[in-house]
Amino acid sequence: MATTFIDYYEILGLPRTATKDEIKSAYRKAALKYHPDLHPASEKTAAEEKFKKINEANEVLSDPEKREKYDHLGENLNNGQEWEPSPNMGNQGNSYWNGEDTSSFSDFFESLFGGPKARGFAGGFGQQRNTRGQDLESQIELTLEEAYHGGQRRFQFSLKSICPECAGMGTVNQKTCRSCGGTGYKTTTKTLDVNIPAGLKDGNTIRLRGQGGEGSSGGKQGDLLLTVKVLPHTTFTLKGNNLETTIIIRPEQAALGSKISVPTIDGKVTVTVPPMSHNGQRLRLRSKGWPEKSGTRGDQYVEIRIDIPTSLRQEERLIYQKLMDLGKEVHNH
Ligand SMILES: [Zn+2]
Repeated sequence: MATTFIDYYEILGLPRTATKDEIKSAYRKAALKYHPDLHPASEKTAAEEKFKKINEANEVLSDPEKREKYDHLGENLNNGQEWEPSPNMGNQGNSYWNGEDTSSFSDFFESLFGGPKARGFAGGFGQQRNTRGQDLESQIELTLEEAYHGGQRRFQFSLKSICPECAGMGTVNQKTCRSCGGTGYKTTTKTLDVNIPAGLKDGNTIRLRGQGGEGSSGGKQGDLLLTVKVLPHTTFTLKGNNLETTIIIRPEQAALGSKISVPTIDGKVTVTVPPMSHNGQRLRLRSKGWPEKSGTRGDQYVEIRIDIPTSLRQEERLIYQKLMDLGKEVHNH
């Protein structure tokens, strides 16, 4: 189970060299500032989140044993960095966990110090695994625009989970399970508001914590894992981090150069087609592509196609005739 490194010092606004008293005082100040009861309803959720993080930071930094373990790990990691605990670290981690309620703490905390969630990756603990609900999987279809912009959307999911009555066996006491009719699975429909991060790609996964199967004997609910399917788009194709599109221009625009309007995922922009442009030539629009992890963006490539209008006015016909005659003259010499 990969998790993200959390900089507890940063949360409390402390240097790594902070003393016990400094930690205590920073914690008190921060906890008072973000206590959910002291915030109006509109800010309560945000304050609660912050308050949880502050408590978690204090839990680690105020405990010398935990702090030492954390400091050792943190030497080479930055806030938000992906971190995969080694399996034996998980076992050590569990020895720290004394059954205290860690439900409000992060996965990172539990990976490091143990807790019900940490057991998942420690592996081998057959009967303990049953306490946490199953992770369920489903697919989420997004238009290219939705994948690009992100935002909240309501989705309905059809979820297949292992039948809790028969544990997926299909039988209870050698009789067909009444709960699932012997299939071993149960299908439920769930409607959820999903927060879609901006810049998702086909095949990415969104994890909705606690939206999976019910836990047993007081265990936590599993997660819901959504695989992103980005639907094909009529205008754009995503290749890597670059968007590709095609524009059609007239012969005279290609020959003399011109300014044309080109669709981008952010809206239309005006692009200069240079004189003597050829069919199939590509123009590059810098940073008009897909968002990248580094904060920069890919490019957009615009392929030029040259085509004539479906009909010509008399004046245009004459000009083409002139071009034709001119061409003959040139070739005859
Ligand atoms: Zn069943």
